[in-house]
Amino acid sequence: MSTITGEQAVVDGVKKQLYIGGEWRDASGGETLEVEDPSTGEALCAVADATPDDAMAALDAAVGAQTEWAATPPRDRGEILRRAFEAIVERTDELATLMTLEMGKTVKESAAEIAYAAEFFRWFSEEAVRVEGRYHVASNGAGRVLTMKQPVGPCLLITPWNFPMAMGTRKIGPAIAAGCTMVMKPAQQTPLSMNALAQILEESGLPAGVLNVLTSKSSSDVSKPIIGDPRLRKLTFTGSTEVGRKLVEQSAEGLLRTSMELGGNAPFLVFADADVDAAVEGAVLAKMRNIGEACTAANRFHVADALQDEFAEKLAAKLGDMKVGRGTEPDVKVGPLIDADQRGKVAELVQDATQKGAQVVVGGQEGDGAGYFYEPTVLGGVPDDARLLKEEIFGPVAPVIGFSDEEAAIAAANDTEFGLVSYVYTSDLKRAFRVCEKLETGMIGLNQGIVSNPAAPFGGVKASGFGREGGAEGIAEYLEIKYVAMAM
Ligand code: NAP
Repeated sequence: MSTITGEQAVVDGVKKQLYIGGEWRDASGGETLEVEDPSTGEALCAVADATPDDAMAALDAAVGAQTEWAATPPRDRGEILRRAFEAIVERTDELATLMTLEMGKTVKESAAEIAYAAEFFRWFSEEAVRVEGRYHVASNGAGRVLTMKQPVGPCLLITPWNFPMAMGTRKIGPAIAAGCTMVMKPAQQTPLSMNALAQILEESGLPAGVLNVLTSKSSSDVSKPIIGDPRLRKLTFTGSTEVGRKLVEQSAEGLLRTSMELGGNAPFLVFADADVDAAVEGAVLAKMRNIGEACTAANRFHVADALQDEFAEKLAAKLGDMKVGRGTEPDVKVGPLIDADQRGKVAELVQDATQKGAQVVVGGQEGDGAGYFYEPTVLGGVPDDARLLKEEIFGPVAPVIGFSDEEAAIAAANDTEFGLVSYVYTSDLKRAFRVCEKLETGMIGLNQGIVSNPAAPFGGVKASGFGREGGAEGIAEYLEIKYVAMAM
């Protein structure tokens, strides 16, 4: 654990300016944006508040660096990622404290995110040298088909506050590996982790202009002129479905390549043949990772009627035992929510469910004091019309609902506009395959409560977006395919 002095030193060690063309500079308007500690509601520091002029300067820098960067040997690009991976791992303690201060989760959870974030750099350092094309005889035998893969070009990357570093490395890693330059706009609540990451990449030898970082409190003013500029070739966004829809609309004019990692409403299915204790363990992970503020968070627990009460009681016992408090304190398992609005939304959803007849098995209250705490909560007997079954909760609340048979479970799971991830607990192999085939989500946790893995394609369907991050698929999002028809 850091002391207060240590915490201040960690915050002081991060650059607070904009990173444009390899230089750290103040915002052109001279304004700043305050960063808050969600466990106290107090200001931690201020960072530069970019203007549309700064946005254009960042895009100019990315465009200016593109040709040379695309021509940089893949091995050299990979080595930069590899060095950055090592530096992140080496500085885990300091980066974890920083992340906890601006985002709230426990230092242990921040360290886990940092390990996950760093793995994207290691993974894509290896992918950088494996970009291939193909050559084959055309079907009529007369010519040859040659394909090559080339970087898409300058990209705009927009990321949310819930995973301040991993959502960045999941985009920056493949962009660097593919040979794209970029402008990154992190969320205004958590700019420090991204600035620390930019410093690490700079120290790892990333050339000026390849990565440019804009912190800003007017995200739309800063991103719109970049999206509207014909030199931009790709927009990759992680955040809410609502904002994703707007950005897809804006990117239509330039016909940009787009990747959209959007909201979720994950069903967690526990069949009658499941190992209940394993399902409860998985449920704790799927619900409580990141204080429930994860797109992959289990949003609703559909449990076979016969197991419903046992599952709810066992889950309540686990969640009720989790200590809530400031993420830098020992033994704390659940930090604060990101801000007052988020806590208000969680409280409102619980109130709506209980007014409609749900019972509180454990929790159900806001925490005391200045931070944005909310107790880990289990709700039983949740009625079908409760809003939290339809909306993304983004907090430590687990609604438990019964189902009668497999068909009903699948229908309930798919009854949402979202389609990011679902979780299935069963010991019947045939059922597992049957259910996986029918679930309308981009990812499934089968007898496990966590799916995130840099070696796997992360992404959703339906209103959870399109495109994949991680795995062999991750780099493809940053590559164009060029076909050459060869006469022989
Ligand atoms: P958000 O409000 O959509 O914001 C995400 C990012 O977009 C932030 O950087 C934000 O900047 C920016 N932004 C907001 N409005 C914008 C606009 N009009 N034009 C351009 N940029 C804009 O989402 P959030 O509340 O930060 O994050 C939570 C959401 O992200 C949840 O729905 C969660 O499920 C989703 N998420 C999805 C994944 C996935 O991989 N599918 C992963 C993590 C999170 P400001 O900070 O300045 O508002």
